Amino acid sequence: MFEKVLIANRGEIALRINRACKEMGISTVAIHSTADADAMHVRLADESVCVGPPAAAQSYLNIPQIIAACEITGAEAIHPGYGFLSENARFAEIVKEHGLVFIGPEPEQIRLMGDKIAAKQAAKSAGIPTVPGSDGGVSSDDEAKRIARDIGYPVLIKASAGGGGRGMKVARSESELNLALATARAEAKAAFGNDAVYLEKYLTRPRHIEVQVLADSFGKILHLGERDCSLQRRHQKVWEEAPSPALNATQRQEIGRTVTTALEKLGYLGAGTIEFLFEDGCFYFIEMNTRLQVEHPVTEAITGIDIVREQLRIAAGFPLELEQRDITISGHAIECRINAENPFTFRPSPGLIEAFHPPGGLGVRFDSAMYTGYRIPPYYDSLAGKLIVHGRNRNECLMRLRRALDELVVAGIETTIPLFQRLVREPDIINGDYNIHWLEHWLASHPS
Ligand code: ADP
Repeated sequence: MFEKVLIANRGEIALRINRACKEMGISTVAIHSTADADAMHVRLADESVCVGPPAAAQSYLNIPQIIAACEITGAEAIHPGYGFLSENARFAEIVKEHGLVFIGPEPEQIRLMGDKIAAKQAAKSAGIPTVPGSDGGVSSDDEAKRIARDIGYPVLIKASAGGGGRGMKVARSESELNLALATARAEAKAAFGNDAVYLEKYLTRPRHIEVQVLADSFGKILHLGERDCSLQRRHQKVWEEAPSPALNATQRQEIGRTVTTALEKLGYLGAGTIEFLFEDGCFYFIEMNTRLQVEHPVTEAITGIDIVREQLRIAAGFPLELEQRDITISGHAIECRINAENPFTFRPSPGLIEAFHPPGGLGVRFDSAMYTGYRIPPYYDSLAGKLIVHGRNRNECLMRLRRALDELVVAGIETTIPLFQRLVREPDIINGDYNIHWLEHWLASHPS
């Protein structure tokens, strides 16, 4: 096993990785920007290295400084967390070239899945059903028009290099298509430096269902069941749960088998997630994330498997100890993303945490780097904490979530806690009856 790991991230996920390392007897190195000198991830790591000024481009994305930090401290491996460099294939290559271990899949797997057009083609050829749409990128407006007529409106234009819900545009009729294409291309170019776009049927009431996998270097692939991430705002997840209230045991088994068989063909390594839309009993692949995800704790809660520990073991060359039949799903878990934002306008609200009290008790986990007196800097994303609640069934989980949200105190800044306090009492949420568009509709009809 590694003796020392560098954690190339900040916030709650840096703490999460630090915890797994500590429990495995691995020393840790934190990196930080000058804005994060007092951050909890720096305090909890064994060592820390300042890698640059506040702007992420000059610190958390500063590859030469991060490699230098490994060399100075003698760290043998880098865990990238999520965001930042976690899906940067070139970074994974550079790490390797320096004789270090990148805790994640091979660079070519990251590159393949980062190109959403190529990823979709690879998924299709490996036997995974995909959303009907263009076979590759669309090069001209005429081609787009032909394909859209074929699959029927509404259609969604998506950026091949897309991520974080950006670069997507809906066209509800042919008259909207040209403008939607031009806007999507311009946005993709500005955000990702790549204007390649593709076309998909826009599904009007799907759920977002994703399957967590673990693959070792001996060819064993396990799936840890699904997560339902249908509660979204602007294509970004807000609330995640496992198992999905919408799947039955047969559908669960079927999608798990499809995913593991496909990844065997593709030869995947490490932890990953395959994302689907699910409508009328059918699954449609949308993308694969080749990294740890924000919502991984709900899977940990229902399986008892520490996903970061498994990532570290796989990267160090150990085989997965479990068999698929050993993985059992117990109870129900829900995660709420507590953001430093106004709960109804979603305007970021960084600043001083005047008081902080996390909830506790059986089945309650709060992953956060906040503390009383901490000042959330304005430079990074607004995720301030994740409340994860586990119960023996969905009803118990909801009751526990309600009480945990009422215990949680974050004073001094605005947070999304009041939004969840309302959502957890909504009949559709209680009944598990929602799709990816539900939250946007609800927000529009429930102004603060
Ligand atoms: P990103 O990489 O930006 O996260 P995804 O392809 O994962 O993009 O899609 C993010 C979200 O956008 C999905 O969870 C879903 O809510 C919505 N979405 C994506 N594709 C479709 C589609 N074909 N029809 C309807 N909604 C979609």
